Amino acid sequence: MKLTKPQREALRMKFGGLCAYCGNPLGDRWHADHFEAVRRNDWGKVPGPPEHPERDRLDNLMPACAPCNIDKHSMKLEDWRGQMERSHDVLHRDNGTYRRMLRYGLVLEARRPIVFHFERSAMRAGA
Ligand SMILES: [Zn+2]
Repeated sequence: MKLTKPQREALRMKFGGLCAYCGNPLGDRWHADHFEAVRRNDWGKVPGPPEHPERDRLDNLMPACAPCNIDKHSMKLEDWRGQMERSHDVLHRDNGTYRRMLRYGLVLEARRPIVFHFERSAMRAGA
């Protein structure tokens, strides 16, 4: 959906100008993310008509920084969370530089559940 300037500004400020997911400042090049995707898992396909056009609504949009929006793509939130929580395992398996950095103590792993900024905000608000 095409947002009006006031709608886009209201969305940008939904979490105080921070990305709904990582909590970093949105900056100028932020995206309006469909929380529930209008299309799922369409990597590499020629885009056809949206599978869920009914989800193209203002109340289904989240302000997201470009890296989060691109990384989330059309995934369900829990699938994206799981993918991120498995990142250490992927690095251990696939990345010799990461394994070397661990051996030499150049990086410290913090294995903890992913809690998105909008979830932390809701917890603080007591919702
Ligand atoms: Zn982000």
